[in-house]
Amino acid sequence: MNFEIINPGTTKELLGAVNKLQKEKFRFGAGCTDLLMELKKKPEDGLTIINLSQVKDSSFSGIKKSAKGMRLGAMFTAHKIVVNEEIKNAFNVLHESAHNLASTQIRQVATVGGNLCTASPSGDIACALVALDATCEMLSTTGKRREINIKEFFIGVRTTAIGKNEVLYGIAVPANEKKTKTIHSNFIKIGTRRSMECSVVSLAYHIQVNEEGVIIKAGVSIGASAPTVRFAEEACDFLIGKKFKAISQKEKEEFAEKVLSYASPITDIRATSWYRKEVLFNISKSIFE
Ligand SMILES: Cc1cc2nc3c(=O)[nH]c(=O)nc-3n(C[C@H](O)[C@H](O)[C@H](O)COP(=O)(O)OP(=O)(O)OC[C@H]3O[C@@H](n4cnc5c(N)ncnc54)[C@H](O)[C@@H]3O)c2cc1C
Repeated sequence: MNFEIINPGTTKELLGAVNKLQKEKFRFGAGCTDLLMELKKKPEDGLTIINLSQVKDSSFSGIKKSAKGMRLGAMFTAHKIVVNEEIKNAFNVLHESAHNLASTQIRQVATVGGNLCTASPSGDIACALVALDATCEMLSTTGKRREINIKEFFIGVRTTAIGKNEVLYGIAVPANEKKTKTIHSNFIKIGTRRSMECSVVSLAYHIQVNEEGVIIKAGVSIGASAPTVRFAEEACDFLIGKKFKAISQKEKEEFAEKVLSYASPITDIRATSWYRKEVLFNISKSIFE
């Protein structure tokens, strides 16, 4: 591999480098766990890599909590998610997605931004953030910030809505509803083996229940089942107003059918389309047990 590396130390230098390279071929490198594998498989000539890991900016790499929710800088790592107790308590789905990602070593450097921007249909953190109805914040070379809902972020296989003059700067997760008493929040990952393996199928859910046991907000998304991670909107709507603990067998199946309607899985070396659908249907039903 032969490429030039630029190491901006501040956000200003980063935006300056992006601006300068507008007519050239360049890529961002965050933890580089995906990027280096990709460039090894498909080397590119005349490429410049903008190394994001030296940028000193707490908005780009830290976490900030407020009444509105939580904002993670794009450079926040999977490891930092795993060890954060508040994330575990309030957004367990995100904790579990990071906890199950790759290996200890990879989690130390793999970033939230990298997981989103690589736009893999089997991105685990991406799947959890879709269930959490997150917002992606981009920063352009002019210094302008642009926010879009994460559902609009993934526009195709490994394609995102980020412009060439933009970098993903942060991800905001809305706070849980004030009336929430109980949260059913988890990430189910089915792989051919537990570690160092991308999902064969995954399901993320974050379901908020009030004092009466009634579902007041639901986020459900699927991974490795369609060209992009998908939000199962009809399945979420179906749950609103129902008592979580009183969902009947028939309703569980109806819910699972609705989740499945968002899936169009492929057959590949790891699993057939038929297998992926069967598994997705069964894990969808299982979340109420
Ligand atoms: C052995 C192995 C196992 C793995 N297992 C899993 C797994 O279980 N689950 C899973 O989800 N993934 C897995 N992955 C994939 C990878 O580790 C994750 O997707 C990781 O989160 C990528 O983060 P990164 O910081 O390393 O991204 P990088 O490799 O640095 O970047 C990925 C892409 O995003 C772009 N990018 C990065 N940051 C930004 C930004 N701020 N703005 C704009 N573009 C940006 C880069 O240019 C590149 O195109 C695995 C990878 C390996 C090698």
